[in-house]
Amino acid sequence: MKLKILGTSSAFPTKDRNQTAGLFTYSGESFLFDCGEGTQRQIRIARENPQKITKIFISHWHGDHVLGLPGLLMSMAMNQRKTPLEIYGPKGTGKKIAAIMKAYEHEKLSYRLIINELSNIKLKTICETDKYKINALKLKHPIPCFGYSFEEKTRLRIDTNYLNSKGIPTQHIALKRLQRGKDVVIEGKKIKAKDATYARHGKKFAITIDTAYYTPIVELAKDADLFVCEATFSNKVKSSAEKGGHMTTKEAARLGKQAKVKHLVLTHFSQRYRSTKELQQEAKSVFKGKLTMAKDFMEIKI
Ligand SMILES: [Zn+2]
Ligand SMILES: [Zn+2]
Repeated sequence: MKLKILGTSSAFPTKDRNQTAGLFTYSGESFLFDCGEGTQRQIRIARENPQKITKIFISHWHGDHVLGLPGLLMSMAMNQRKTPLEIYGPKGTGKKIAAIMKAYEHEKLSYRLIINELSNIKLKTICETDKYKINALKLKHPIPCFGYSFEEKTRLRIDTNYLNSKGIPTQHIALKRLQRGKDVVIEGKKIKAKDATYARHGKKFAITIDTAYYTPIVELAKDADLFVCEATFSNKVKSSAEKGGHMTTKEAARLGKQAKVKHLVLTHFSQRYRSTKELQQEAKSVFKGKLTMAKDFMEIKI
């Protein structure tokens, strides 16, 4: 499980920072969180394969988060993509994508788009498989904007020490049933799942980009192994941050602290900050855990 950060700037791309995007990879699937202008080139430079993207999560429809979407969708078609692509985003996302496709009507997609529009205000699970679930929370921004969390499900692992102590083979077809929590009989010996397995807690990743300070985010990011949060401004310009629906470093750090996250990554910096040193110091004064200031092409293992 890893996150490749592809863009860390806010409204404007800079010499060193592209607009927002993050590529999260889990078990052979890739999820793209936002798609700022130039994202498909960032994916290429990062040596990732855009065809592996199965889901795109759009936070909101401010240009710096979505201007790269038309190009990415068209490139996927030019490369003869056949796998359906799911897109999650605020209410109205389907209409906007239809308008984009109408503007480029000579470009036909070779694959099916599955649009999932979000209108929930409170934290809600929007996608669930047997391996993971994805939650969304409406954030505090001038237009509808969502934060997301990915939660890997807790899995049962076989306790090989226990099997060895009972003289039971550690390779057997029935062990799969044991991993599903069912008791089994192997070589005439009854084995209880509760004795021969242990729980491996799943990992959690949360991301909130473009929001003012908003306490329900604590629940979205609760105990996350990785929390990527916007910190557009220094604490010195707190009032203008709030007016634009953004956070300061200290506010983002406070959320990380309250949610007890293991690793806090700050991103979406205003172009006025050539260096993030001062921003980092401010955040450090509040959040005492592992803190990273995001850079384009940074890879974070979870
Ligand atoms: Zn933004
Ligand atoms: Zn915005």
